[in-house]
Amino acid sequence: MKKIIKLIVMLYLLGGTLNMALAGPASYGFGYDHSTVKIRRLAPTYNIEISALTAEYSNASELVFESGPNHLNPPYSGHVAFVEGLYGVTNWFAIANPYNAAGQPCTSLTTGQKTGNCNNYTPADYGYIRFNLASQTALGLDPTELANHKLHWAIHEFGHILGRAHDTVCIDTDSIMEISIDCTPLFWYLTAADKTWIDTRY
Ligand SMILES: [Zn+2]
Repeated sequence: MKKIIKLIVMLYLLGGTLNMALAGPASYGFGYDHSTVKIRRLAPTYNIEISALTAEYSNASELVFESGPNHLNPPYSGHVAFVEGLYGVTNWFAIANPYNAAGQPCTSLTTGQKTGNCNNYTPADYGYIRFNLASQTALGLDPTELANHKLHWAIHEFGHILGRAHDTVCIDTDSIMEISIDCTPLFWYLTAADKTWIDTRY
């Protein structure tokens, strides 16, 4: 009987280790191909958040941010465009779409799932981040909460451009790559785990 209990305890401990190994920031399996990011600011109500995200990421890595043109025309290589709009639906708040050099989306334009177009050999070459003002308004947050959520969305979505997938846990998360704004705690800055992930790769 003691042996069985020992075995169960061992299995439990192994399971715990496995869960810990699986938790935390995950990778899409591709990265962003440039150390300098040209930012296109086409989201006027997100200027503070875009400045905050460039500060957060340049502090955590060797990435350099420069201003790009304020339009969506070529050239795209090395550019990340931020756009906002009333997208008619309220089932998403913000979405990031990295593209490879051939112009193929690395992730689905609607679900954010990996498409298979991008990997370590065909990395993300440019990106497009959209903020959905319709769903943000529908949330009905007070100004402070809204400000924090906007920071969360901006910093989170840029993580997808760098090849970061969603966190595997939703309770007691340690990363801004949370699967939902209902996850706890909701971060609006890069955590220690985020900084480690980013610093290792960029
Ligand atoms: Zn996401």
